[in-house]
Amino acid sequence: MSVRCPVLLCREENAYGAELCAGCRTPLAGYARLHTYPAYLFNRGLAAARAGRLAAARDCFAAVVHWCPGDTEARNALALAGLRLGDRAEAHRQWTEVLDRRPGDPKAVRGLAQLAEPAEASRSSGLPDVSGPAPGTG
Ligand SMILES: [Zn+2]
Repeated sequence: MSVRCPVLLCREENAYGAELCAGCRTPLAGYARLHTYPAYLFNRGLAAARAGRLAAARDCFAAVVHWCPGDTEARNALALAGLRLGDRAEAHRQWTEVLDRRPGDPKAVRGLAQLAEPAEASRSSGLPDVSGPAPGTG
């Protein structure tokens, strides 16, 4: 693994962990940390989501998306966390943004389809339900 110098006129390949760029002496340690920070935040968000801490998860994913707007994986996760928190508008916004960046993204397509369905409580076909067992018997 190596770190390419972020200075556009340099772009020297440096060994991972190098303090300074071998080509132009730009400090690299902080840059390498910044480079891996979004992945770290994303993993923290996943861990928080698994632990049921949805608000914390959403904050992590939102930070990743702010940092890396093109990270559709993080954006999908942000949308899902928003949906679970009851923020359907935010979920819709993020999934739409994913599809703008990656047309046909399966997670975003599924997410938007889910949003288009009525909430479970109001699932109604417009027909009275008379096929079930009669109430009050037994
Ligand atoms: Zn350099």
